[in-house]
Amino acid sequence: MADGHGHTTYDVIVVGMGPAGATAAAALSRGGLAVLGLDKESHPRYKVCGGGLSARIDHVLEPGFRSVVEQSVNGVQFVYRGQDPLLIQSPRPIAYMVMRDRFDHYLVQEALRAGTDIRTGYGVIEIQQDPQGVEVATAQGRYRAKIVIGADGANSLVARQFFPRRSQYRAPALESEVSIGGGQHVPAATTILVDVGAARQGYGWIFPKRECLSVGVGEFRRKATSLRATFDRFVSQERGLTGLMVPRPAGHPIPVYAESEGGGQGVGSRFVAGRAVLVGDAAHLVDPLFGEGIYYAIRSGQLVARAILADTEDYRESFAAYETALEGEILPDFRVTDRIARVIYAFPRLAFKLLRRYQDVVKDYFEVLQGRTTAQQFLPNAKKRLKTSVNDLLLEALHLR
Ligand SMILES: Cc1cc2nc3c(=O)[nH]c(=O)nc-3n(C[C@H](O)[C@H](O)[C@H](O)COP(=O)(O)OP(=O)(O)OC[C@H]3O[C@@H](n4cnc5c(N)ncnc54)[C@H](O)[C@@H]3O)c2cc1C
Repeated sequence: MADGHGHTTYDVIVVGMGPAGATAAAALSRGGLAVLGLDKESHPRYKVCGGGLSARIDHVLEPGFRSVVEQSVNGVQFVYRGQDPLLIQSPRPIAYMVMRDRFDHYLVQEALRAGTDIRTGYGVIEIQQDPQGVEVATAQGRYRAKIVIGADGANSLVARQFFPRRSQYRAPALESEVSIGGGQHVPAATTILVDVGAARQGYGWIFPKRECLSVGVGEFRRKATSLRATFDRFVSQERGLTGLMVPRPAGHPIPVYAESEGGGQGVGSRFVAGRAVLVGDAAHLVDPLFGEGIYYAIRSGQLVARAILADTEDYRESFAAYETALEGEILPDFRVTDRIARVIYAFPRLAFKLLRRYQDVVKDYFEVLQGRTTAQQFLPNAKKRLKTSVNDLLLEALHLR
């Protein structure tokens, strides 16, 4: 629709058509709203990402996404600096492996089918808010809407513009796609590899895809000094990569959730500023334990759409409902995984020993990844089982027994 000033106007403009933006746009369009989706890239586009999607996604996405799954995974091979492999499996899938170009393209197609007006190759340069709505500027034109959703990822322009005092930590990560052609998957096509000792305060991973392995390292709890050296060491230590050509890794930040750091401005929210609301990586909705963000991008996109559709007259009410939904469903689990991450990444060798001794606890955590339980429900039982053992292992480590 055009307004009196020749602008095209929408109910909602979504900046960024990654998993968060495409999911929100599709749901809002299905709900009957006029939605414009803008992305600076043209899809399908490469995205630096391991592409590991926890199986809890089955509870929130229609099964059609399986058409772009490369591999179902039902086991994790843990190692410590390439040594002492420990395979722990589940009878059911714990994760799906996707290539982000295909997966994100699938979600964008879903939004298109739902009626979203999608413009790719349209980078947003600036956004202005006024009492009537928002105006979003791109090199190709300006667009108006009642509200704007910032789904523009870890380097979000929407967040920089409307949350200028935000100073949340973004963890550095490196990723490379290693072609295996028709060769063998290592450790296996249905198994991911997690090296607990590969990085300082983080981990190294090998995720199996159809024709390649996604190989990466991330450091989640403090600034890395030389992540490239960490990546090279990881690659040289992993037997499964011997003889394979590992291309130069690409870097991208992972905006892991942290409770205590900077908030937004004005209302004090870290998700809402006037007519702007953040989802996915732009909102730092990434699990602090594994750096998992795709599920939370999709889920936050769904939650914001649900809240907007529930009250199309008053965006303030909708945004408040969205924040309540995050507080009810996502943030309590992040607080728990943050606590677990602090321990594991401070004492990785001890954590590795515990994994071996308490494989049932790991299997219980698989149920969290499967969405059969939550991190909040997992923690008390795990603590009970581990308590005495941690004491024993600490004494052992100090050579007191
Ligand atoms: C190395 C690495 C490995 C990872 N591995 C995993 C993993 O295995 N599993 C997992 O769950 N998560 C993983 N993550 C995290 C995951 O990639 C993100 O959490 C996820 O992509 C977030 O989705 P999103 O939609 O919020 O943002 P994005 O996927 O980043 O999408 C944002 C979109 O916004 C567009 N955009 C940006 N700026 C503008 C602008 N100014 N105007 C218009 N468009 C714009 C971009 O082109 C992009 O398409 C990994 C991250 C990294 C860096």
